[in-house]
Amino acid sequence: MVNPPAETGHPWARRVVLLGPPGAGKSTQAGHLARHLGVVHLPSGALLRQAAEANSPTGRALASILERGELVADDVVVAVVMPALAHAVSSSGGYVLDGFPRDLAQAEVLGTSAGEGLAPQVVVYLEVNPNASLKRLLARASRQGRSDDSLQTIERRLKVYREETAPVLDHYSQAGIVVTIDGEAPAHLVSEQVLWRLRLE
Ligand code: AMP
Repeated sequence: MVNPPAETGHPWARRVVLLGPPGAGKSTQAGHLARHLGVVHLPSGALLRQAAEANSPTGRALASILERGELVADDVVVAVVMPALAHAVSSSGGYVLDGFPRDLAQAEVLGTSAGEGLAPQVVVYLEVNPNASLKRLLARASRQGRSDDSLQTIERRLKVYREETAPVLDHYSQAGIVVTIDGEAPAHLVSEQVLWRLRLE
């Protein structure tokens, strides 16, 4: 099948990556989009938190990394995420990933799966400026008491995003598959924009 040009949207897309800084609303939007597409939503942070609950040395090591807001080693993340991804594609025909790939090495792994039909077709980038992102994370910290949402951890996560994840956006931009959305709008408008830009509505 020949893909239509980008300006006509991506109504055929079933494998989607959501990118954006911490606090951009990736998880909310990814869940909404996945329901709309009828594919599995894969939030890498939640998958890792689940793996960290295992009462094993690996589980405990993982838990302490998550609590410090540092990135989990690529091989560990890949071992958790890739099987879930393959399962999502075989069971639902696609996925909406959020939180992965977080760095270029992970993007590379996802890219080399192209032959097996696992690589993303579209990357939705939720653009949120760093101040807005910081404010949202602080608000979430006081609402949910998430243990990785302390000020120090939040600052570390934003720094990790700038240094490790921003290059992933450049990588996909060069591939011409990025759709940029204003992530600072209210959540329901962001959802509408995502569907509109992918021409799913
Ligand atoms: P999130 O829920 O996406 O904010 O992720 C929470 C935490 O999980 C992050 O601060 C990282 O420690 C870890 N994490 C999630 N996804 C990845 C990934 N793709 N690579 C490395 N660490 C990750």
